Amino acid sequence: MAEVKSDIEIARAATKKPILEIGAKLGIPPEHLLPYGHDKAKISADFISQQKGRPDGRLILVTAINPTPAGEGKTTTTVGLGDGLNRIGKKAVVCIREASLGPCFGVKGGAAGGGYAQVVPMEDINLHFTGDFHAITSAHNLLSALIDNHIYWGNEQNIDIRRIAWRRVMDMNDRGLRHIVGSLGGVANGFPRETGFDITVASEVMAILCLSTDLKDLEKRLGDIIIAYRRDKTPVFARDIKADGAMTVLLKDAMQPNIVQTLENNPAFVHGGPFANIAHGCNSVVATTTALKLADYVVTEAGFGADLGAEKFFDIKCRKAGLKPDAAVIVATARAMKMNGGVKKEDLGHENIEAVKKGCANLGRHVQNVKKFGVPVVVAINHFTLDTEAEIRAIKDYVATLGAEAILCKHWAEGSAGIEDLARKVVALAESGRSQFSPLYPDDMPLFHKIETIAKDIYHAGEVIADKAVREQLHIWEAQGYGHLPICMAKTQYSFSTDPNLRGAPTGHTVPIREVRLSAGAGFIVVITGEIMTMPGLPRVPSSEKIFLNADGFIEGLF
Ligand code: ADP
Ligand code: MG
Repeated sequence: MAEVKSDIEIARAATKKPILEIGAKLGIPPEHLLPYGHDKAKISADFISQQKGRPDGRLILVTAINPTPAGEGKTTTTVGLGDGLNRIGKKAVVCIREASLGPCFGVKGGAAGGGYAQVVPMEDINLHFTGDFHAITSAHNLLSALIDNHIYWGNEQNIDIRRIAWRRVMDMNDRGLRHIVGSLGGVANGFPRETGFDITVASEVMAILCLSTDLKDLEKRLGDIIIAYRRDKTPVFARDIKADGAMTVLLKDAMQPNIVQTLENNPAFVHGGPFANIAHGCNSVVATTTALKLADYVVTEAGFGADLGAEKFFDIKCRKAGLKPDAAVIVATARAMKMNGGVKKEDLGHENIEAVKKGCANLGRHVQNVKKFGVPVVVAINHFTLDTEAEIRAIKDYVATLGAEAILCKHWAEGSAGIEDLARKVVALAESGRSQFSPLYPDDMPLFHKIETIAKDIYHAGEVIADKAVREQLHIWEAQGYGHLPICMAKTQYSFSTDPNLRGAPTGHTVPIREVRLSAGAGFIVVITGEIMTMPGLPRVPSSEKIFLNADGFIEGLF
């Protein structure tokens, strides 16, 4: 077999075009592209506001089955489909998330796609990029510093220092910072208190940046952040300590979407990257809405499987931004079907039709779920080298019984040439006008009822259980005027249930709610159903051990 090139080798061999040329393809004049080097740029806020009133292109969501260690390739398929649409003559842009440094040095796996379906410059995109995450880290920590400073100088707002809801962040996996005691060392350093760090992608500032429509909206949402409670339990907002203005200043550039290119020199927007558990897991609203003004087709990705990613994309991002997706692509692989059918990772190399058929139940559930939002669906089978024809046939036959189509895609190995069939099918679905998108539940449904609707309609759970304290908290928020907010579920990505080991399509399980949190600035209520890690740790052998600069000054080991 020919030697398989690594993602970074393929990316480095790319023939990139100057970023001004890529922007020109979308009609962005050079004065509105703010270059960061030769191959990255930001799109000016002025240009974005000038696009108001222009018609929108079609919006395509790429989502997937529940992830398995076998790997599904959502980003790879998003990028491949964008190139595929360009190849068949459509003006298409992909919109994906920025990468966090934490996973880069932890568990191997990039955020820029893979094989011959990647966005470049992949090293930059996976590392500091245009500094957006650093800006978010700074804005978040400015607020943290202002809170302690406010208390130090007399605590005019009567913040109860036992009830401070705002922690600190950094973009690194560092378990040593999960729980710390701050302000130690004497009177001059403030009042000692327990606090801790989360990873930057878990910051509410990240979710806010990704849901804001412009700088005014950003400033308002930053002001709405609840930083603490008083002894009488009334909330203290970021606005109350006058933090919103300065935070907005720090985020002024980060709000502007980044444009880069695919290996095939088509435009790609890479902007924002909120966690997919305690936040909604999609790229920024500004990037998506701007792309829709400039292209016929916008292909975007949602994190995790469709039970979390697509549900939040529809119920949070699309609902809030008024987006109307025209079609959804559900990525599946023969390997992941086998794993869902009970095969162990080390046995994936052998043909096993029975396991594929058994595992298809997971795919089928996602297909039917996405249809509940009124969006037409096609399945993309992301081809891996060892897949057999009979396995692929089994998936296609199964999907046909659901009244949908599964299409074999070879974009990872062949680039756009390998994904033309999917591109044509997506165009046919989108242009059929069949999409009648609507969110799963209305704004005015009581909060607990919203949670039950997601659990029953999407997870096929039998019941949702929650302590009296949780239910009371939801009622308090309803009384305070937060009842109209959508729900942001934090659940394991590996199963429809809350048990990560329960693969396939379980029914009748119980969804226990451990905790609820209000993200008042982002505008959703986080419902936590298990252990949620907001500051990851590094594995025993972190991938950083293999990352270095070679003799020619190139980065080695980064995917
Ligand atoms: P996701 O977005 O679903 O997390 P990615 O698209 O980032 O997944 O892909 C994860 C990894 O799997 C990448 O390193 C990519 O190169 C690899 N990959 C994706 N598709 C294939 C494929 N068809 N064959 C081999 N490797 C693949
Ligand atoms: Mg991805």
